[in-house]
Amino acid sequence: MYRITHRAKDSRARTGVLTTAHGDVRTPAFVGVATQATIKAVEPDALVALGLQIVIANTYHLHLRPGEDAIAPLGGLHRFSGWDGPTMTDSGGFQVFSLGAGKEHGVGKVASIFPGAQPPSGRRSSDGGRSLVRLAEQGAEFRSIFDGSTHTFTPESVITIQRKLGADVILPLDECTSPLHDHAYTKQAMERTHRWARRAVAAFGVLDGDPSFPNPEQGLYGIVQGGAYRDLREESARVIGGMDFRGYAIGGSLGRSKEEMLHVLDWTVPLLPADRPRHLLGIGEIEDLFAAVHRGIDTFDCAAPTRLARNGSVFLKDAPRHRIHLRNARFARDDRPIDETCDCFTCRHHSRAYLRHLCRAGEFTFYRLATIHNLRFLVRLMSEIRAAIENGSLASVAAEWGVAD
Ligand SMILES: [Zn+2]
Repeated sequence: MYRITHRAKDSRARTGVLTTAHGDVRTPAFVGVATQATIKAVEPDALVALGLQIVIANTYHLHLRPGEDAIAPLGGLHRFSGWDGPTMTDSGGFQVFSLGAGKEHGVGKVASIFPGAQPPSGRRSSDGGRSLVRLAEQGAEFRSIFDGSTHTFTPESVITIQRKLGADVILPLDECTSPLHDHAYTKQAMERTHRWARRAVAAFGVLDGDPSFPNPEQGLYGIVQGGAYRDLREESARVIGGMDFRGYAIGGSLGRSKEEMLHVLDWTVPLLPADRPRHLLGIGEIEDLFAAVHRGIDTFDCAAPTRLARNGSVFLKDAPRHRIHLRNARFARDDRPIDETCDCFTCRHHSRAYLRHLCRAGEFTFYRLATIHNLRFLVRLMSEIRAAIENGSLASVAAEWGVAD
């Protein structure tokens, strides 16, 4: 399923090809977030045109609406959505637990992955807060964010749901702890995640080859947990890495800061099987891409680039934080494209002034045009990163982008 094509000499960076039943993915690659089986505002043809290689849809959301039993008879996610390329599905564990942890700790993990050093004052810092999740060894019972109805995910049911959805890469149910959970709780959760991983492998094996599912050639990745605790991350990498998964995802709380996230990668990646792909869940700021590739990550997914686009922030290499905000008045008469070096549809057809107008007017067209640019920007950046790995210039390319690798 994964073939390494080049290894950097001075870091863990590598290039490779991930082969799926719906095409190849050249890595390192950015995975577009298609939570509801669509990249928000952009149709599949445009994604193909801009060179996006792979998307990740969300089991939690699609299970609640429209339901895997609606999608499976329509040919699975690929036929249902019209995106015929490589596809992943997240297990839904992150959503189940992040919504719970958000209640419990007063931090939205989706909105703020790194909440800072301290729990917000007046909040409880460990278990016992009012949560949307009830957890047992069997699985997690949670309430729908849509209608409050009660659902249960077990390691087995999450595999069955993803078999019906039919993505090429699927993930087992894991318990995502909050960055504010202590060592004892994080350890307990990690051990449960390991037991759930074994049950997921068993369930996956039983269902493997069942012709009633839309995609017989799925690959199951394992998920390494352990919060920002070195001993736990190492233990989790050894345990999950010792199980025969097609690839390995690094998930859960990556700490309270970006430095802690980089430590997590330094502890974890060397202990995972070197010949399998490694996915970093939920990370994708430009400086993070370089740092993670440098540490041996092959694929990433992150909702930020498309969410930023919809809010009017579009990527530009030489701008502060690599982005400009199109609402800014200084663009009112700016006839230039967002990025004069960009070959995307948006930059070939529209000026900053027009895009600013669409953005301020709240026009739907704006969401599409801005998203196309941000995705194309990342596709080109990843292509540049792959070339830099192959010719040994990753460090100098990172420096040119103004990021430490
Ligand atoms: Zn562009």
